[in-house]
Amino acid sequence: MVKAGSNNNVNTYEVAQQQIKHAVEQLELSDDVYERLKAPDRVVEVAIPVEMDDGEVRVFIGYRAQHNNVLGPYKGGIRFAPGVTADEVKALSIWMTFKCAIARVPFGGGKGAVACNPAELSAKELERVSRKYMRNMVPVLGSKIDIPAPDLNTNAQVMAWMVDEYCNIQQYNDFGVITGKPLDVGGCIGRETATGRGLMYAVRAAADVKGLTLKNAKVALQGFGNVGSNAARSLVKQGCKVIGVTDIGGGVFNSEGIDVESLINYTRQTGGVKNFPGCEPIDNTSIFALDCDIILPTAVENQITADVARHIKAGIIAEGANGPTTPAADEILKEKDVLVVPDILANSGGAIVSYFEWVQNNYSFYWPEAEIEKQLEQKISEAFEHLYTYTCNCSDTITMREAAYMYAIKRLADTMKIRGW
Ligand code: NAD
Repeated sequence: MVKAGSNNNVNTYEVAQQQIKHAVEQLELSDDVYERLKAPDRVVEVAIPVEMDDGEVRVFIGYRAQHNNVLGPYKGGIRFAPGVTADEVKALSIWMTFKCAIARVPFGGGKGAVACNPAELSAKELERVSRKYMRNMVPVLGSKIDIPAPDLNTNAQVMAWMVDEYCNIQQYNDFGVITGKPLDVGGCIGRETATGRGLMYAVRAAADVKGLTLKNAKVALQGFGNVGSNAARSLVKQGCKVIGVTDIGGGVFNSEGIDVESLINYTRQTGGVKNFPGCEPIDNTSIFALDCDIILPTAVENQITADVARHIKAGIIAEGANGPTTPAADEILKEKDVLVVPDILANSGGAIVSYFEWVQNNYSFYWPEAEIEKQLEQKISEAFEHLYTYTCNCSDTITMREAAYMYAIKRLADTMKIRGW
């Protein structure tokens, strides 16, 4: 369980708004487009009173931001994290809109959160927080309205409690209201590991255009949770060597390569990567300066700052986390010709398989694993190819992130226009 947040004073909501403004200007679109996209359509804040095991009542604050639904129902995860703010949730909802537009899944963008530290809650308390969050949000959610999923510190069990609460209130089963559920309540095979696997497909495509072969390519990761560990596992299957991994509690380095499966087991037992046998310790900043080919930021926002970027030696950064690179760092990486595969493309595997889950729920017809993997690979690979071509066609100096915003905003602006918004 982790504490979400940033290591500096960058406001992610302002960053997201700057990114929209910049793209709208580059596309020479009317300022109305910026005004329409700069803030969520709706932000709901609720007080969640919960009876703790000792009988005391604690009030948690919950959020749901619904950014834009011109392409389909709002869609995005719910995170449980101490110190989470409305601005963080709004920024994340904006990025979801663009992510879905780029992946070409028929959803808009949403995001939710509860300001709490799940590590301090018992299982029963966690269930009560999850159910009460859902009870408060029922008026604004629905399988055709807004569809949450897991995010930082939430998982399939939390989704199961929430979907159960929703169905109890509605008095009918509508499993499509949430994705990332356990298989027994309409979950999709492979959803839990989809973001990490999708990240691998994004890295593979990036390596292709950079002329890098994945066999023996050296990878360093910050963050070894759901996204990081599954990406590492998938990249090892492609022949990569993971040489460094950090998490909130410490880090490990071995220039010869780390046995990722053993590290996953070790992390399950000890709660973190620190002191994994056969490795040297490494800290959270040095991980980014390693002599390696590929860096995966798979932890939290604002980790690659300008200072960090100056020391990066890798040619490819694929953003598993949302918003891990600050705008100042982006400038430096652009000068250094590092290919940054932006979060809104690189980590869209979860959103894509969530879409598959929602489709299956709507039809009550479930696909075999091979079909899901094939469709995931195809969707991410196509999204990368479209975006890379679009980037190259824009100009020599544009980054893939700038192009991603332009591509998504153009799609949104065209659709808003044709719908008469
Ligand atoms: P997780 O809770 O499973 O893992 C987070 C990992 O990051 C842990 O190893 C933790 O120790 C580490 N971490 C946290 N803060 C850190 C810090 N300051 N320094 C170093 N390590 C730190 O979370 P996750 O689901 O893997 O999500 C990671 C990121 O990916 C988040 O930004 C999330 O929004 C994004 N994301 C997740 C999904 C998904 O499907 N889970 C989808 C898209 C994007």
